[in-house]
Amino acid sequence: MIDVIVIGAGPAGLAGAIACASSGLKVIVIDEFIKPGGRLLGQLHQEPSGEWWNGIKESDRLHQEAIRKSVNIHCSVSVFNIEKDDDFWNVHTSIGTLTAPFVLLATGAAEYPIPLPGWTLPGVMSIGAAQVMTNVHRVQIGKKGIIIGANILTFAILNELQLADIHVDRIVLPEKSPLSGKAGEPEEVMKSLLSAAHLAPSPLLRMGSQFMKNNWLRKKGMKFFPKSGVKVNGTPLLLRKAALEIIGTEKVEGVRVADTDVNGTIIPGTETVNEADFVCIAGGLYPLAELAAVSGCPFQYIPELGGHVPHHSETMETPLTGLFVAGNITGIESGKIAMAQGTTAGYSIAKHAGKGGPAIDEHLTQAVQNVRLIRKQSAIQFNPDIERGRRKMSELWENLYEKPANLHPIQKLG
Ligand SMILES: Cc1cc2nc3c(=O)[nH]c(=O)nc-3n(C[C@H](O)[C@H](O)[C@H](O)COP(=O)(O)OP(=O)(O)OC[C@H]3O[C@@H](n4cnc5c(N)ncnc54)[C@H](O)[C@@H]3O)c2cc1C
Repeated sequence: MIDVIVIGAGPAGLAGAIACASSGLKVIVIDEFIKPGGRLLGQLHQEPSGEWWNGIKESDRLHQEAIRKSVNIHCSVSVFNIEKDDDFWNVHTSIGTLTAPFVLLATGAAEYPIPLPGWTLPGVMSIGAAQVMTNVHRVQIGKKGIIIGANILTFAILNELQLADIHVDRIVLPEKSPLSGKAGEPEEVMKSLLSAAHLAPSPLLRMGSQFMKNNWLRKKGMKFFPKSGVKVNGTPLLLRKAALEIIGTEKVEGVRVADTDVNGTIIPGTETVNEADFVCIAGGLYPLAELAAVSGCPFQYIPELGGHVPHHSETMETPLTGLFVAGNITGIESGKIAMAQGTTAGYSIAKHAGKGGPAIDEHLTQAVQNVRLIRKQSAIQFNPDIERGRRKMSELWENLYEKPANLHPIQKLG
């Protein structure tokens, strides 16, 4: 008899499984990838303290600890549906249906695509695919590349490609359109990058960050943004150039770009072609929450968390009895935070299951505090307003599910 089914063997899922198993619950973890670790497997970056974050080592550590705690891990198995049957959840997988009273959804995040002409040519990939091919499968993705889209993930992965001796020639923006959204607006991109300027390897970006926080100065800064770009780790970041088309016959041969004004509008007559043999598209991340949707879990739209996210409490409970969430499915943040949320969800499940002994409340309180602390100290912050997003979600939860006078009709479904 299984007590808990964890879907996703990334940092959130593995940490959740460990906390459940430490509290005496029988746990099974399912993941569709060939090995556990989730997105940790691709991560390698230096923190502002100078320490290296080695995702492969972290995932190994979590995997070994899970095994020591007798967690049963099944890789290469996909979950395509979950449904509630009285007091149990049925989890439908590619190897059959599993049943348990508790489910932890830790399915992570996915990348926004930015479609543009030529994006189906061989040699075009998402920036996350470039990370996986380089750091997980050790495949050289090309010799000279162009990244379309500038966000925090772009710079983390740019650095990883450089460490693997892969040359990224330039970073340009996508053409402004309803599909590219803010990713095609130079000023918006600049604003989001400034919140991460303390991480910038370029002293120019670091020095400029205070100056650029002022609105008026930022507009001027964009106006006079150098045509040749600002170098980030040696690679020009060209915020005033937009990609119009990826060109090539059999495979990628280059990108047709044009200059833009400060608003991202194309300046006619400025088109040029930059050669490349691979192109990475970086459109940003959103929570991968389909399984929460098919389960009937209510959602909230909170842009600061990355869009539509399953409604949940700070202890990772959803309004559906027995259904818990952790990690990027609840909002886009770093691996360390996903791990801390997983631990919180694990103790929360143990408390609901009546396990973990008298110390369980203390473990849970400490786990929640740890998430807040790690968030404050976080080196990588995908959304500068993440704390506001988290507060919004907590307030919505308190208003809908915790104040008896304010009970909502969908309270305690399931
Ligand atoms: C492309 C990409 C690159 C990233 N790079 C960084 C980075 O460099 N640094 C950083 O700090 N953060 C990075 N992140 C953020 C990253 O998501 C978090 O750091 C962290 O890995 C999130 O942990 P998680 O456990 O929530 O999800 P993940 O680590 O994504 O793990 C989720 C797991 O769920 C599995 N899964 C999903 N759906 C199913 C299903 N239906 N059935 C079975 N299994 C399923 C997946 O295979 C995956 O292994 C990146 C995210 C993405 C998407």
